[in-house]
Amino acid sequence: MYIIMLGAPGSGKGTIGRELVKKYDLSYFSTGDIFRDEIEKNTELGIEVNKYLSEGSLVPDEITIKIVEEKLKSMDKILLDGFPRTIKQAEKLDEFLQENGKSITAVINLNIPDKDVITRTSHRVICSNKNCGASFNTMFMPPKKDGICDICGSKLIKRKDDKPETIKDRLVQYHKNTQPLIDYYKKEGLLDTIDIDIYSNKTKEETAENAGKLIEKKINSYK
Ligand SMILES: [Zn+2]
Repeated sequence: MYIIMLGAPGSGKGTIGRELVKKYDLSYFSTGDIFRDEIEKNTELGIEVNKYLSEGSLVPDEITIKIVEEKLKSMDKILLDGFPRTIKQAEKLDEFLQENGKSITAVINLNIPDKDVITRTSHRVICSNKNCGASFNTMFMPPKKDGICDICGSKLIKRKDDKPETIKDRLVQYHKNTQPLIDYYKKEGLLDTIDIDIYSNKTKEETAENAGKLIEKKINSYK
């Protein structure tokens, strides 16, 4: 089972992805995590990847694909987060799976209006205690005491990349990269879109359940 998750920053992709991982006993596969791991282990690949990331540039497709294929050889129940990021990566993934007699099960696209991402992220505060890492939202999930973490009592702060200008830049980048992927998977008949409404009372668990239903529908349609 190969599930691909697409979703803008602030769409809740990480949380919903983790719920699906639990539910279907999948391995969570994030290229970001793999890059960090290789860098930490100081492998040849890690050194190369670090060269790009430390300059603030994207890791070239060839390197990313090489790392992903290496990992995929040993896993067959995964949820992919952050990969593929380009059409070239998507094509390579299809090729690789086909060669190995496998295929993508479903692509879940979390769709959220840009203005809602900005509203949600601009009200996000996180715990300043790095060992705690709790996250609150002054509009949607306020802490019990203003500016204080419910869990450990440390001060709550704003993340640097949650500034509206930064978010707007990230969204422009996101749409530029992701729209071609959405079209690509739509054409393959794999895409399911879930609209995220930040003002509804729907929890992330419920959204994950909806995503699960869509995945099961796909699995059943192949039988
Ligand atoms: Zn805390």
